[in-house]
Amino acid sequence: MTAATSSDTLAHAPWQSRFAHELPSMAEAWTPAAVPAPQALALNGALAQALGLDPDSMATPESLAVLAGNAVPAAARPVAQAYAGHQFGNFVPRLGDGRALLIGELPDRQGRLRDVALKGSGHTPFSRGGDGKAAQGPVLREFLISEAMHALGIPTTRSLAAVATGESVWRDRPLPGAVLARVAASHLRVGSFQYAAAWDAGGSLRALAEHAIERHQPEDADRPDRFLALLQGVARRQAALVARWMGVGFIHGVMNTDNMTISGETIDYGPCAFMEAYGPRTVFSSIDTAGRYAYANQPLIARWNLARLAECLLPLLSGDETQALHLATGVVDAFPALYRAEWLAVMRAKLGLPAADDEVDEALAQAFLALLQPRQIDFTRAFRALNSAAEGDESALRGLFAPEAQEALTAWLERWQARRAGAGAAERAAMRLANPVYIARNHQVEAALEAAQERADLAPFERLLAVVRAPFDERVEDAAFAEPAPPSVTAGYQTFCGT
Ligand code: AMP
Ligand code: MG
Repeated sequence: MTAATSSDTLAHAPWQSRFAHELPSMAEAWTPAAVPAPQALALNGALAQALGLDPDSMATPESLAVLAGNAVPAAARPVAQAYAGHQFGNFVPRLGDGRALLIGELPDRQGRLRDVALKGSGHTPFSRGGDGKAAQGPVLREFLISEAMHALGIPTTRSLAAVATGESVWRDRPLPGAVLARVAASHLRVGSFQYAAAWDAGGSLRALAEHAIERHQPEDADRPDRFLALLQGVARRQAALVARWMGVGFIHGVMNTDNMTISGETIDYGPCAFMEAYGPRTVFSSIDTAGRYAYANQPLIARWNLARLAECLLPLLSGDETQALHLATGVVDAFPALYRAEWLAVMRAKLGLPAADDEVDEALAQAFLALLQPRQIDFTRAFRALNSAAEGDESALRGLFAPEAQEALTAWLERWQARRAGAGAAERAAMRLANPVYIARNHQVEAALEAAQERADLAPFERLLAVVRAPFDERVEDAAFAEPAPPSVTAGYQTFCGT
């Protein structure tokens, strides 16, 4: 086969348009805007391969044209997806893809259908006042942090490519533009259901729910109570997801209902950031002045968002309103217990505890966090230092605490060691995979993005990307990437939404 006709290139891949066909009232057929000069900033060869594509074909002008929006694969039918959403608690009945397009779905090598979407591909019927474009900084940021999350073992949408467009986008000043190609288990959101429920024309709500079940819980497709199973599935996946965020200090920053997936993947890397000094109230987003989406609020917000999904599903749960409400409430009320079980599992791995004792483990984990909080100790480093302590070397952990805190630390370590009785190699191996050395630290992310944007120097971005793609193996040459930012940087650190 020649490259030009090979089905392992983006242009000739076996594109499907399931969403567009099954949910026409939620899909506006649309074409990406042409851009002057596509140029690869970052290509994800491993992900291309997982999608059944030839990684070497990604850099060809033909593929770059697809990734930049200059060409649409012959078999694809791009659409802007409609969705609604609660933004900071306020309902907006029509948001939708204002700067994104779903190109279509592709089967991956395991036979699972994946969405491929472009972000920053020009205005759409949902753009409202926006230009539909994206600047390079936020595109590279999503690439970097989504790869970091994936490497940490946290479900996430992935980044297939970041392509510079050769045009400027206007923010507070002209910035180099880019398009991100995003791969997701699907782009179905709580907000998708809110849209279908608000505008339910011709049964789109039921069709959407069936579509979601087919994509994310096909094993439940024949159950008479499959819509309840869907709600329970979202609850399970989101409980697991948010617990994993908490375990690495990830703060999403904008957990609006349009940014919460049905798949249980992290989506929409806008103002997200990793916490450094442990603080439950930590929030970085410049627009989150009330701290609605602060670190410790994330599980509460996930439950709130789940309740919004449950409301949408009521008409499908039962013909009897009281019964429907009873079923929905049952799932939402069970969320805190689901979340707690997931969080305890994460914490047990981080602390290297054998066998489970919920009450004791929770108290032990909270006591460790209580040691970190008043002393502003770095979350990632503290947990990582526990790995060495588990191997008999407490010096790294002790080094994080001031002399006057050593006594309190000793008391906690005694409790911990007592609880660890019986722990062996398996627990220590689990600890190493639960406590990363490297996260995408804010000052490093900013430095990498600034070099890319201001000086067209991608070397710092590539270096940081390589570091966060292997977060668990300590490397001497990468020691600087394990260091927290100087406190002066962290104190004033703010993240911004606009991609
Ligand atoms: P987000 O902050 O990514 O969750 O986006 C919230 C909503 O704003 C979505 O409907 C986006 O499509 C829309 N949006 C954000 N930025 C732009 C832009 N530059 N042009 C058009 N729509 C946008
Ligand atoms: Mg969004």
